[in-house]
Formats: sequence, structure tokens, C-alpha cells
Amino acid sequence: MNKPLILVVEDDKAIRKLITTTLETQGYLYETAETGVASLLKAANAQPDIIILDLGLPDMEGVDIIKKVREWSKVPIIVVSARSENQDKVDALDAGADDYLTKPFYVDELLARLRVSLRRIQYEQDRPMRDSTIFLNGNLKIDYAAGCAWLNGEAIHLTPIEYKLLCLLARHVGKVLTHNFILHEIWGNYSSDIPALRVFMATLRKKIEKSDSDFKYIQTHIGIGYRMLRVTDS
Ligand code: CA
Repeated sequence: MNKPLILVVEDDKAIRKLITTTLETQGYLYETAETGVASLLKAANAQPDIIILDLGLPDMEGVDIIKKVREWSKVPIIVVSARSENQDKVDALDAGADDYLTKPFYVDELLARLRVSLRRIQYEQDRPMRDSTIFLNGNLKIDYAAGCAWLNGEAIHLTPIEYKLLCLLARHVGKVLTHNFILHEIWGNYSSDIPALRVFMATLRKKIEKSDSDFKYIQTHIGIGYRMLRVTDS
């Protein structure tokens, strides 16, 4: 993540200054808003990574701001409020706030809560990568993280280039990849050696289509390129 942008919604000038100064020293970017209306505009326009929200604003109830933001955004909202009643906390959290800090607060604690929210954002952002570390297609399995491939539960012994080819086809399963695209992805800018590609593709095939009854994972498109077929009926 680049420098996180924090929207500070606070009508008390001294507290706003305290928070923004703290954020600045920690390398965060920030925007400020002093009213509910301004905070909603800033939330929509600046697309902050986190919102720090005071509940007692001159024009709107903080809980209503939370509800409005939640209509279109999952941005973490940390409430910083002088209201210390349990009911206020429950109302804010029920409306969609992620965290609640009571004034007066320790700056260190606010920073710790910010870090918690940022870790959560990072976790969400990394999810697609985590979820896609295992590729499954029929009897073929690739563990991208481990750098291994299996057929029918048995490890396939591939050369580095064969493995790269297999992963490339798998990542684009169902799509035809042109010779030039594959050459560029595997060998970089300087190769136009289609005969070499054919050789590697043939040896890869032998390893994943051992017998005639094996599913033909790789389809040749003559004069164009190759495609990995998706096994839909096994
Ligand atoms: Ca206030």
C-alpha cells in the first residue's frame, strides 16, 4: 500500500490538530472535515483508506454519517468520541463503525488502532492472491506457492521452462495464448524461437498426457498458439 490516506472528521480544532500532527509524523496522508456534510463529500471524493470520526458534529449525528458511508463503502471507520456510554458505542458499531476510542485518548492507542485497520485492509487486498495459490483442473494440480505440479496425485517432474509454460497456460486456462505472447512471457523480449517453444510444449505434453486415455489438457491452434482446456466433465 502507498501512504495511507486518513480522513479526519472532527469539529474541535485542537483535537483535529493533535490527530493530524500525529498522522503527519507517522507518514500518513490526511484530509480533514469539520462537519457531517463535508465529511460525506470528502469520503466520496478523496476515497480515504480509513475515516476517523467524531460523533458530535454541528450538523449531523455521527451515527447517521456512518450509515450513509456504509451505503456505498466498506472503508474502516474508527470513532473517536467523548461519549463514553456503552449505548453510544453499541449504536456506532451497529451502524457500521469498525472501532471506538473514547476521548481523551492516548495518541499511541489511536495509532495502534489505525494499524489494526490497515492490516485488515491489507489482508482483504491480498485475499485473491492467497486464494489462487492452488490451481486445480481435472487431475492436474499446481501449487504456485510451492512451485510444484501433480497429475493424479503424483508429482510431475518438470524442467523450469516446462513448469513456467504449464503455469502460464493454467493462469489463462480456457484462453488461446499466441506464440508471441508465450515467448515473451517465458523468455522475455528477445525470443522469437517458435520451434524451441514447440519442443518444450511437446515434452510438457508427454508429462501431463502420458496415456491415450489421459485428458488432453493442451490444445494446439496451428499457426496461432496453445490453450489449456478446462476439464468440466470429470
Ligand atoms: Ca465534536
